[in-house]
Amino acid sequence: MHLNKYLTLILLYFVINLHSIPILQSSDTVQTTSIYNPEQNEGLEGGDMVPQPFQKSLTDRGVAIKPASSNRWAGGVVPYEFAANITANNSAFIVAQMRAMENLTQVNNTQCISFRPRNASDLYFITIFNGSGCYSPVGSWGSYIGTRPVSLMHGTYSTCMVSGIVQHELTHVLGFYHEQSRPDRDSYVSIQWANIDPSQAFNFVKYNDSQVDVEMTSYDYGSVMHYEWNAFALNSSGPTIIPTQNTSAYIGQRIRLSPVDILAIQRYYGCVPTPNITTTTISTTITTTLMSSTTTTSIISSMGNSSTVMSTTTTAATSVIIDTFWKL
Ligand SMILES: [Zn+2]
Repeated sequence: MHLNKYLTLILLYFVINLHSIPILQSSDTVQTTSIYNPEQNEGLEGGDMVPQPFQKSLTDRGVAIKPASSNRWAGGVVPYEFAANITANNSAFIVAQMRAMENLTQVNNTQCISFRPRNASDLYFITIFNGSGCYSPVGSWGSYIGTRPVSLMHGTYSTCMVSGIVQHELTHVLGFYHEQSRPDRDSYVSIQWANIDPSQAFNFVKYNDSQVDVEMTSYDYGSVMHYEWNAFALNSSGPTIIPTQNTSAYIGQRIRLSPVDILAIQRYYGCVPTPNITTTTISTTITTTLMSSTTTTSIISSMGNSSTVMSTTTTAATSVIIDTFWKL
């Protein structure tokens, strides 16, 4: 029953988006809702995600989605197609960002991940279209049959055609969540709950280490997957995220993959080995962090149902369906 309801909602969402493009391009009303940041699509998971239809909660997130085996693109290859409402200039720009990501993540002059035009035999592929905001699926969606919509809006008042925004969305596609959703984030940033609209608080929930894998990387303020300092603020002149280890760190860059982003992608796709040391110690640390943070917000305490997530993932791997979506 939940599955059907979510599926209907998601399908309606896409149908509305796909068919409202001419209206969007001429409608100030719609576009001004995202004039400041097209990544912050209120009501969507993580601001730029659409929740997977079989998920009970909107609160799961993290870095690299688990399990990698059913969320990675086979061979690191992502087939893509452009919808008709993506202009030639914008498709060239997006392809340039794909090439940049391929080059950045190369290992010994060999591509680690790649994007190529979809061919007729591809069962799994993304469709990039000019929708209402910037959002994308997280991971490959396993064996789900059908397109994975990636919205890269280009409008009068707001656009996703920024190098780091396109790379951010495509990194979601590769299987990555937002940096500040890491299990260890409370050791690196302070979330300013008082300045966050309660209805948007779900954007700041973190994942636990059964749901995500940090790929043995350190927390990265410079990640292209990190939110900016005042994301989803009630008062946008005040912060919602304060770096605590380096108080002058700039967060929210949208230029390109950071060195740590690159390493995480290379490890997730098996292009370089992931160190296997001190796993037990790290798990203990993360658990401690989670335990101490459960009193911070009821949202966090409701997120950690790993059994639900694992069964969901199993479903996705064996038959269906839609994995998590991110709006930029
Ligand atoms: Zn995002």
